[in-house]
Amino acid sequence: MQGSNGGVAGDQCDVVIVGAGYAGLLMLHRARGLGLNARVFERGDGVGGTWYWNRYPGARCDTESLEYSYQFSDDLFQNWKWSERFATQPELLEYAKHVAEHFNLLPHIQFNTSVKRASFDEASRRWSVKTDAGQEVSAKFLILATGCLSSTNVPKIPGLSDYKGPLYHTGQWPAGGVPLAGKVVGIIGTGSSAVQVIPTIAPVVKELIVFQRTANYVVPAHNGPIAREYEAQVLANHAEFRHNNATMIRAHGYRNRGRDVSALTVPRQEVEQDLERRWQVGGLNFLDGYNDLLSGLEANKIPAEFVRAKIRSLVKDQSVADLLCPTHPIGCKRVSVGDGYYETYNRRNVHLVDIRSTPIEKITADGPVVAGKTYGVDVLICATGFDAMTGPILSMEIVGRKGVRLADKWAAGPRNYLGLSVNGFPNLFTMTGPGSPSVLTNMHVSIEHHSDWITNCLAAMRAAQKTEIEATESAEQNWVKRVDDIANGTIFPSCNSWYLGANIPGKPRMFMPYVGFPSYAQVCASVAADGYAGFRLT
Ligand code: NAP
Repeated sequence: MQGSNGGVAGDQCDVVIVGAGYAGLLMLHRARGLGLNARVFERGDGVGGTWYWNRYPGARCDTESLEYSYQFSDDLFQNWKWSERFATQPELLEYAKHVAEHFNLLPHIQFNTSVKRASFDEASRRWSVKTDAGQEVSAKFLILATGCLSSTNVPKIPGLSDYKGPLYHTGQWPAGGVPLAGKVVGIIGTGSSAVQVIPTIAPVVKELIVFQRTANYVVPAHNGPIAREYEAQVLANHAEFRHNNATMIRAHGYRNRGRDVSALTVPRQEVEQDLERRWQVGGLNFLDGYNDLLSGLEANKIPAEFVRAKIRSLVKDQSVADLLCPTHPIGCKRVSVGDGYYETYNRRNVHLVDIRSTPIEKITADGPVVAGKTYGVDVLICATGFDAMTGPILSMEIVGRKGVRLADKWAAGPRNYLGLSVNGFPNLFTMTGPGSPSVLTNMHVSIEHHSDWITNCLAAMRAAQKTEIEATESAEQNWVKRVDDIANGTIFPSCNSWYLGANIPGKPRMFMPYVGFPSYAQVCASVAADGYAGFRLT
């Protein structure tokens, strides 16, 4: 492996990275640190990934800013000041731009370029990468930093294309914003994106009609300006802060960690007091109090009922409250974080339409039709989520050894080793892909973990004069089983979530992320320490 720190090089390079979100940026920085000639293709016209595309009103992160930060550079960490406990989308986008400029990454990124196809040539042992502009680049390594939630899911509701008003998806929101003041707005979906849009636009629109298929558990954020005293403590003990968070199953929230006991062994009143305390603190650590809230359906009923009681107390009209009360286990679908969501349904201009018992029949030029009634809307918003995890990868045609397409190999669901490497696809790495903890964790921790692991692997290959790395078939089989076995010990497979691919009609049902960051990181470390056990190095 050779290379230089030079800029974009002709049609040959050491590494092609797809995506300039937080993962792609860090991977580029790391690859350049190794002296490799690395090139990034990005379909947007700027960096930021998720935070570039999700510009919808109210968009902000639900992991605390100080944790949802790059931590690999103490200088970067110490010198960036977040304004709020949970950062807004514009600030998160500024942060990505700052990082790209600070580490001089922009000259190595080609914007407005989608990768269409990547195929592995067995003779030259190189990847040939083709873009939508017809460019072809040859690279030794291909790294997919395409994000987990970047392929939007637009529902296939009959007549959608007949709708005459403007139609937007939250995951592809126009950069200049959308005028909504004084309009009648319809929104389909009540997941995390909708939970942020709804309270933000309700005060400015004329009427807001929410089409709900599945009620959602929403815990408060209690967002506000960042507590500078807490920030100073974190900055003073950065290494410890980072280490402690990495010991948590979801790689964040150490300061709100719970007890390693079952909620069923503790008096109910005590569990409820803990839930109330967590509700008042706000954020995703609501379910961290006991060790079985996400692994035992019986224990899970306690926080589920706690939130339903909150909904009934926050929403004045009890028939609306009933509709807003979720019935699936809490946490089985991703819990949303946001302020004022349930209270918004007390507004006279906000209307909830149940499309679980009576689905949207069709969409006419005027708007959605439910139970024979047409809901005329000036603007229609799809907050309908994503073809998660595999969608962004399979949106490209990826062809490995013997002409095998990744889409065919994954026809029954994604199969890989460590969530990083696929048998039959040498020198290809996926960052935060299926089979890794990714979406169940603080993404920054997972991104940094993967970029470190890949960087160390590339350095080890160079030192050992190896040019090719590929997961073995048996390692891959064992890994898929391990991911599945762990998930089966939790409540996660018990409802129709996007973690399982259940939100996309026809998508194979398979629990995709690995549950438990610390054990995952341990396995990855021991694989590397054992000379990349489970991989064939040539
Ligand atoms: P989502 O959680 O998948 O929610 C999509 C919503 O649309 C659900 O209510 C879903 O109902 C509904 N829906 C989908 N297809 C439909 C159809 N054909 N007809 C009617 N309703 C339909 O998507 P999201 O809200 O964009 O969030 C996705 C993930 O992104 C989150 O889970 C989270 O990980 C991340 N996210 C994070 C933040 C944050 O950090 N604050 C913000 C937004 C998103 P069903 O539940 O019945 O499928």
